[in-house]
Amino acid sequence: MAESFERARTLILEKVFPLSVEAVGLLAAAGRVLAEAIESPCEMPHWDNSAMDGFAVREEDCRPGARLTVSGYIPAGGTADGIRVTPGEAVKIMTGAPVPAGGHAVIPIEDTEADGETVVIKGSPRVGDHIRFRGEDIQQGELVMTAGSVLRPAGISLLASFGFTTVNVYRRPKVAILSTGDELVEPGEVVGPGQIVNSNAYSLAAAVKEAGGVPVLLGIARDTRESLKEKLAVGLQADVLITSAGVSMGDRDLVCEMLQDAGVERLFWKVDIKPGRPTAFGLKESTPVFSLPGNPVSAIVTFEEFVRPALLKMQGYHNVIKPFVKARLLEAVKKRPGRVQFLRVSVTENGDRLEATSSGDQNTGILLTMLRANGIAVLPAEREKIEAGEEVDVHLLSKEKL
Ligand code: AMP
Ligand code: MG
Repeated sequence: MAESFERARTLILEKVFPLSVEAVGLLAAAGRVLAEAIESPCEMPHWDNSAMDGFAVREEDCRPGARLTVSGYIPAGGTADGIRVTPGEAVKIMTGAPVPAGGHAVIPIEDTEADGETVVIKGSPRVGDHIRFRGEDIQQGELVMTAGSVLRPAGISLLASFGFTTVNVYRRPKVAILSTGDELVEPGEVVGPGQIVNSNAYSLAAAVKEAGGVPVLLGIARDTRESLKEKLAVGLQADVLITSAGVSMGDRDLVCEMLQDAGVERLFWKVDIKPGRPTAFGLKESTPVFSLPGNPVSAIVTFEEFVRPALLKMQGYHNVIKPFVKARLLEAVKKRPGRVQFLRVSVTENGDRLEATSSGDQNTGILLTMLRANGIAVLPAEREKIEAGEEVDVHLLSKEKL
């Protein structure tokens, strides 16, 4: 029996879990998911420092027009050791430099007139002006990021500020990709009669990379038990195995049988979707195995809807299902009730709303309409027809054409 689209995705997401944790350098950590909580080892800033290039002054000396003696200079990277702001004096200070003892405020250069020896104050600074106080940003021991946070540039900035050079994140899954079929040749090889090029391995590898995984290309298994057995055994060493083709009802569609033989427990093997009905999912112990259809469009669409969320969950992400955007479908679409239909669409902005049009021939054999689509409209199973002008849910594939 075929599973519904939602149930199939739930079954998958119930069975995959974040992988082990690895320590990586800060650059490699960008965009990854933290596997540890981060507490600040220190106060930030470390000491009171100037937020402006200017003069450290005492509040009571600073009536507008007051002339003060410049008694010292603290550049960025300098220290305030032995320097004190005494009555009638100002200390020249650069942004980020430590505020000297006795300095109540920093008055920015643009609010002064200086001649080197003396400085005339134009404003009337109040205590604390233009000083970043020790610990005002972050307290020592403060929890700044929880495990499960995605490391964005600000997070990387904090880790660097704390002096960390590595951080613990969830590992990226190694994803073995196996194409199956007697008709396949590799790109660059002579394409004989009846043969086609193994493009799925490359589209799927590209999709794996886009989803943060590490693709491992296993090449082609022929439609024989021996060939499949050998290649599947290698593929099952990876964190995830994806096969394409050989799961329909054809004489030589042996993938399901050979997966079972290899000890893969099947959770479903058909989904009520179009395209992509012959999609299967199973587990060998904790290793997920996706058997995607051979048709290049179906392989891309089923990857997007089923494999991508699983790869994200394995990397520790929480929001693994792409949020829908609402777009107004500009033409009526007839569909087969009982199956979710993935309509390849081109989404454009029109004022403050999005509009979607079919990117062309929706036959599963037509790759060009996949290429020209920047979204997949997910049309509900129960519907028979979507009227022109109705809002539909779209998974954006790219923001490029918006
Ligand atoms: P199958 O699921 O084996 O019946 O294959 C369905 C369709 O997908 C057939 O037209 C195959 O030639 C095509 N196909 C299978 N594998 C690949 C592949 N690796 N790259 C491109 N097309 C493929
Ligand atoms: Mg085949």
